[in-house]
Amino acid sequence: MPLGLLAIGSNLDPARFDVRIIDARIEADPLDAVLKAAEGALCFGVTMLTGRPLGDALAMLRAVKRANPALTTVAGGWHPSLFPVETLDEPSIDITVAGQGERTFAEIMDRLADGAGVDGIAGVTFRGAAGQAVRNPARRLEGLDVFAPPNFELIPVERYFEFKGRRQLDYIGSIGCNFRCAFCADPFVYGRDWKATSASRLGAEIEALWRRYRFTDLNFQDETYFTHRQRVADICEEFLRRGLDFTWAGTMRADQGVRLPDEIWRLCVRSGLRRVLVGVETGSHEMMRRIRKDTTIDAILETAAKCRQHDLAVIFSFIVGFPEETEEQVEATLGLIKTLRAMSPKFETPLFYYKPYPGSALAAAVADQTPRTLDDWATFDYVAGPAGTWVPPHLYRRIERFKFYNKYAAGPGTTGESAKGWGPGRLLRRAARWRIDHDVYAAPVEKFLVQHLRPEPSLS
Ligand code: SF4
Repeated sequence: MPLGLLAIGSNLDPARFDVRIIDARIEADPLDAVLKAAEGALCFGVTMLTGRPLGDALAMLRAVKRANPALTTVAGGWHPSLFPVETLDEPSIDITVAGQGERTFAEIMDRLADGAGVDGIAGVTFRGAAGQAVRNPARRLEGLDVFAPPNFELIPVERYFEFKGRRQLDYIGSIGCNFRCAFCADPFVYGRDWKATSASRLGAEIEALWRRYRFTDLNFQDETYFTHRQRVADICEEFLRRGLDFTWAGTMRADQGVRLPDEIWRLCVRSGLRRVLVGVETGSHEMMRRIRKDTTIDAILETAAKCRQHDLAVIFSFIVGFPEETEEQVEATLGLIKTLRAMSPKFETPLFYYKPYPGSALAAAVADQTPRTLDDWATFDYVAGPAGTWVPPHLYRRIERFKFYNKYAAGPGTTGESAKGWGPGRLLRRAARWRIDHDVYAAPVEKFLVQHLRPEPSLS
């Protein structure tokens, strides 16, 4: 669900503004929907995520600006937060917003409605009279209780349930993160700060939403949901006290899992916890230190053991292709993936390729190799790097084959990715297990056949 846009839209005065949220992922003809809504509008805002989604945002912005040259356009989200000045190189963008956007966007809208400029609004960068970028002071992160709660009536919630195939509501109960991982843009954008909705208010909001939408699962999309253990416990108590009947999922660091007392683990499970997402990133001790993850492989295994003990599903996410990562370090990552996958059929281990998010400490090391323009950021090859050097072709091949066989070897996971229920599934699983156990990935005929028979949709 488009939670960022929802947070922004819910904090505009409804007596003054008519808010329309358009999500291209669920619109039959998103461009047409945007162009119709933009006619006579006061402002067009877009959220921009580094990578291929940038290309979609640019296409919309350019079409809207072409059709409505006088309409003010605002870009927020991750990419403009990292590049508030450079994003203004794009002529179809008038204003960028960096960091938390609720109050910033509300102030922009009030000024536009009054026919005033945006100078002085914290968090905003805009074009001055001479066309130069003017950057206002940064905005400090505020606790979420000062804002209006997300008004889910602004989006077609039932359509999202249909799209997901389950009555699962997404929600953000906190923003930011206190940690300092060197590959992550969060410390740069939020200054290692963390702010949250109080447990009592969150309990009341979730109860109202549950009574309204009768969702069966609640998915906390916070960067680090388990930041404060007492708050986590208080929220569980809120769910139980209010008699709310759903399962829930949240994000957790491995060290937080280690520190979480047993009674809170049990309370979480009693209140419906079904799955956690743990960013592991690497199986190499040396790389763990370099990326400043500030946790250990022992902590990951300990948290995994606790999750298995409580019969919880876990998504352990990994990254390969860090700058100067050696093949031994990649192998250590693949080894840890195998270990975790073998611990429980409810553990999944998605593996991603490193993205050089600007502002992060690691990206500074490859700054001369990263794109300069928005269009380049949108089309950049994040796997191969500028000269095919980041993940060389032979390693890419090995990783992709490993990912394929690892997915099918462990059987059904928690997200429906499995060979179960598919005719030749059992045979495929047996072959995949043999390959993973023996580390043999040559002549991947099974991979070729599956991808030929069941091609996966390409993601924007
Ligand atoms: S990777 Fe996760 S824990 Fe590390 S800084 Fe980013 S949000 Fe925080």
